[in-house]
Amino acid sequence: IYTNLIKLENDPTRVIGIVTLLEDVTEMRKLEKMRSDFVANVSHELKTPLTSISGFVETLKSGTIEDEDTKMRFLDIIDIETERLTRLIDDILTLSEIENNSTKSIRSETYTTEAINEVTEIMRPIADGKKIDIITEVEGNLPIIYGNRDWFKQMLINLLDNAIKYTPQGGRVQINAYQKYNHVVIVVKDSGLGIPKNELPRLFERFYRVDKARSKKVIGTGLGLAIVKHIVLAFNGRIKVNSEVGKGTEFTIIIPTKIN
Ligand code: ADP
Repeated sequence: IYTNLIKLENDPTRVIGIVTLLEDVTEMRKLEKMRSDFVANVSHELKTPLTSISGFVETLKSGTIEDEDTKMRFLDIIDIETERLTRLIDDILTLSEIENNSTKSIRSETYTTEAINEVTEIMRPIADGKKIDIITEVEGNLPIIYGNRDWFKQMLINLLDNAIKYTPQGGRVQINAYQKYNHVVIVVKDSGLGIPKNELPRLFERFYRVDKARSKKVIGTGLGLAIVKHIVLAFNGRIKVNSEVGKGTEFTIIIPTKIN
């Protein structure tokens, strides 16, 4: 709160009014805290694989391990951790690119039906590897939407990748896309593990992974859905999630179409 007394020019002892300026700093503080939490989280997430890599390198260099199989196992771990580090850095860069250019993207256009079909074909071999059926019901002539085409595809890739990752072998993943008034609606539904209700509010947070023990078995950075959320926002859209443990999860994206 800033307060200023208004005084008479020819008699500064006489106060004729008070100006009070109230500035809401809670929002600024919140943003600042989010930023510093993010830096702390990034450092922690990057440090974990690095600590593991340098530990195994040290052990191998010390020459104390003679068994070839053990050496190979250590090298495999280094390999896996290096990959995790690369994925983390890629995801962090993607996220920051989207955050910094979200308004710029709105000037480009995406041909919706075509982009959805392309992504489905990219993901099909991954689903096949787990004997998961991808079923698509995509309207043929969906209207164009505003926004970066690569980001749009990235958003769908992340959702489909999760749907496949968190669905056991032999399950199914369904994509529906249709026009509703001046919006495009895209639904990605799976028959997988589901997400407990109490976890849903934090789902789109950076680095958040549901039930660490469960997620540990599945490769991931915890940034996939944060990226999805930011892309949806860049498209001026909304995202909703519905889920039931043991039955499956359904993400619904609603994006405004280009007005001609
Ligand atoms: P991750 O890299 O861990 O997959 P995401 O940000 O993409 O990170 O997702 C966050 C968490 O949400 C995941 O760790 C997982 O527990 C949960 N999740 C995301 N999508 C699904 C899904 N389709 N089914 C079940 N759980 C999911």
